[in-house]
Amino acid sequence: ASRKIAFIGLGIMGSPMAANLVKAGHTVTGFNLQQPAIDALVAAGGKGANSIADAVKDAEIVITMVPADPQVEQVILGEDGVLANVAEGTLVIDMSSITPQTSIKVEAAAKPKGIRTLDAPVSGGEAGAIEAVLSIMVGGDAADFAEAKPILDALGTTVIHVGPAGAGQTVKAANQLIVAVNIQVLAEAVVFLENAGVDLPAALDVLGGGLAGSTVLNRKKANMIDRQFAPGFRIDLHHKDMGIVTDAARAVGAALPVGAVVAQLVASARANGDGSLDHSALLRGVERLSGR
Ligand code: NAD
Repeated sequence: ASRKIAFIGLGIMGSPMAANLVKAGHTVTGFNLQQPAIDALVAAGGKGANSIADAVKDAEIVITMVPADPQVEQVILGEDGVLANVAEGTLVIDMSSITPQTSIKVEAAAKPKGIRTLDAPVSGGEAGAIEAVLSIMVGGDAADFAEAKPILDALGTTVIHVGPAGAGQTVKAANQLIVAVNIQVLAEAVVFLENAGVDLPAALDVLGGGLAGSTVLNRKKANMIDRQFAPGFRIDLHHKDMGIVTDAARAVGAALPVGAVVAQLVASARANGDGSLDHSALLRGVERLSGR
């Protein structure tokens, strides 16, 4: 069924996701801080709004896809935000990657107003968003998940309810741990192979077909071979996520020894000025450590 959806945050991920909801037949009204992304949604068949209040005024469903906790707090909980402007019964789906605590806080603020919430962070990157093949990990009530499922199916191919509010964010934190460690060791292999004088594309092709093969290797090898680091997924955002996973793991007594080291390497990449590059630019840190 066609739904009235407000989409807040039309960035690298939100823009293609909103366009895919239009393609699926929904009425999508978008708001973003930069006007060109709103214009692009209108060109794709959606509608533009000039504020959050304007975007959500007729919405049955609100989706938010903003960078981090402070933006979620502002956009959903803020004075002129989503909760202050939506009708009772609205379903608010936050797809940003943030701390589980903030997702729980959003649910607690919404519930007394009769507003339903889900945390539904995603994995699969810009390509996954464009191709609508994201993995979407959802926290919240089962009944609200059931209502959201057909909408989320227009954005991804693996859409799974993982538990109550915040659980989606906990799973996303684990995802970011796994991805960062994989990118770091892929970068280490690349520098090793180049120093050893092996043909790099051939080496990565054969590695991709064996047990070392992975989605990270397949998706990120071209960035590394070509030193093409336009984002994609910015190191600044991965730094945010490594903070989330190290805090969350400490809170439950789980040791992340390798993750802790990689969190430091992500922080170092940022300190070296690579924060706005794609996370495949962790390669530059390995080059620095190798005296290149
Ligand atoms: P981005 O910076 O490209 O987009 C964020 C958008 O939010 C921007 O367009 C900005 O204008 C908008 N925004 C911020 N504050 C706003 C406000 N107050 N009102 C309206 N709009 C506002 O970031 P992105 O790469 O699209 O990432 C978004 C989220 O998705 C992050 O939490 C990120 O960690 C997560 N994520 C990103 C990727 C990826 O590959 N890029 C993959 C999975 C998850």
